[in-house]
Amino acid sequence: MESALVQDNPLLLPLNQERTVYDGFLSVQERDFRLRVLLPPGRPFKRARLHCCWQLKHLLQGYEHIVKQRLQQSADLVTFILELKTVLEVCLKSRPECRSIPPPRYYSQLIAEMETLGWGRLLFIDSEFRTLKLKAEDSSGRQHVLTVKLKSRHPAEAPGCSADLPVPLAITWTPQSTLDQLHNQFLLVLESLAEFWGALDEIDSKTWILEPEKPSRSDTMRRIAIGTNVSIKVEVDPKHPTMLPECCLLGAEHAVAPLRDKLNANMHLWNPDSGVLHNLRDVLEIEFPSPATHEKSSFSIECGICYSYRLEAAIPDQVCNDPRCGQPFHQACLYEWLRALPSSRQSFSIVFGECPYCSKPITVKMAAQQA
Ligand SMILES: [Zn+2]
Ligand SMILES: [Zn+2]
Repeated sequence: MESALVQDNPLLLPLNQERTVYDGFLSVQERDFRLRVLLPPGRPFKRARLHCCWQLKHLLQGYEHIVKQRLQQSADLVTFILELKTVLEVCLKSRPECRSIPPPRYYSQLIAEMETLGWGRLLFIDSEFRTLKLKAEDSSGRQHVLTVKLKSRHPAEAPGCSADLPVPLAITWTPQSTLDQLHNQFLLVLESLAEFWGALDEIDSKTWILEPEKPSRSDTMRRIAIGTNVSIKVEVDPKHPTMLPECCLLGAEHAVAPLRDKLNANMHLWNPDSGVLHNLRDVLEIEFPSPATHEKSSFSIECGICYSYRLEAAIPDQVCNDPRCGQPFHQACLYEWLRALPSSRQSFSIVFGECPYCSKPITVKMAAQQA
């Protein structure tokens, strides 16, 4: 019975003929712990002594009395090792930080995978060797970063992956997968988005973008300046980037109305074979002001109430509809201003009042965060 342990742990073997010294490994939740059991001459098990590796010692901290008690109560080595295994499982459960230390083969596996992938692709690795940032360049030379969070059971368990993409990152992983294969999958995802980024890069370089302030690779929306206080918000579909995007014209009604008519009348002219920007020009029958022809300051006119352009993330997008005035305001500023005046009236979430500049009628909707 004591010669060699069965039951998942056949790794404890006698080191001498007298069978007083057993040495080997105990495997708990994918981790191996070295231990040695010393029996006194005559081998009374109750007086056996346990020697542990430092990891095991560390893990059993606070549980020593339980281990001692189990050792004294066990009839033989097999019973004791099974008891010890149960205690260790409890320890690992109560100390997630211990459980998360991967076994040594995790590191050798990781190094082998990085050798195949190429160390030049590693941008960052954390001190635990769990989070990696890998760089990837698409065929147009755009730089991307893939963040990989490896599980301690890597590669048996799929890693968590994330990247700055406009679509969810779907990765296929099997226990035989490697980081190199993961990287290749990521490159394919990047290629599938090449047309989308190509369209947005053209818009970003040839027009004035009012929003977002600093577009990221996952941003699908652009608010493009058309003129003073007139802009178009386009939402490009990452899966169908050449199709007519969702468009919303913003600005004073007298400036927006003719553009809206053009958009509706010319929509059928949209040609998926030419770029988004080119199509927008054709459909709206305009030339977009570009960094080559205009200063951005001509479109970033500050709010007539707080005299700033950006209020947190908001830009002044409420414009007085009187053609001679056209003063822009932040939604929040105008709402607060009108609500404070006794001459204004509110109906549901809309406040009706007078423009602070020209006293012509103006309305504002309560902003979402004020609702
Ligand atoms: Zn303001
Ligand atoms: Zn006005």
